[in-house]
Amino acid sequence: MLIGQNSVVSIDYELTNDAGELLDASPKSQPLTYLHGASNIIAGLENELTGKAVGSQFKVTVPPEQGYGTHQPQLVQTVPRDAFPDPDDIQAGMRFTAQSDNGTLSVVVTGVTDDSVTVDANHPLAGQVLHFSVNVAAVRDATQEEIAHGHVH
Ligand code: ZN
Repeated sequence: MLIGQNSVVSIDYELTNDAGELLDASPKSQPLTYLHGASNIIAGLENELTGKAVGSQFKVTVPPEQGYGTHQPQLVQTVPRDAFPDPDDIQAGMRFTAQSDNGTLSVVVTGVTDDSVTVDANHPLAGQVLHFSVNVAAVRDATQEEIAHGHVH
């Protein structure tokens, strides 16, 4: 059976960046399972999986446009330090959740001065070229309920 629209697909994967550093991987014998064709995974990886079968192993390089998007400068903002609940205890690398007009944003602190904090709401992998190494572990048809919900049960 080949992977197509409404296949439920399980993959083992490793994700590395351009420098060859490991960013993410599926745990051993615990493949990632997703509904194919429902944009549950990034486009560049989903497209490459179309037509593959169980046992297929491949590598794919995904540009930011097909991955987590380009890095958008307007998502980097400088805000007053006292806008934070604990203003004396803010360091670069800390993560916060912020409310915005578009819902909840996850931001990371990228800079701190005496009275201001720079936060970046881009996805941590935005702007990065992603290198996936993939093994297709299982493929089955989705149930009607899974198709209706747009995700795997
Ligand atoms: Zn559901």
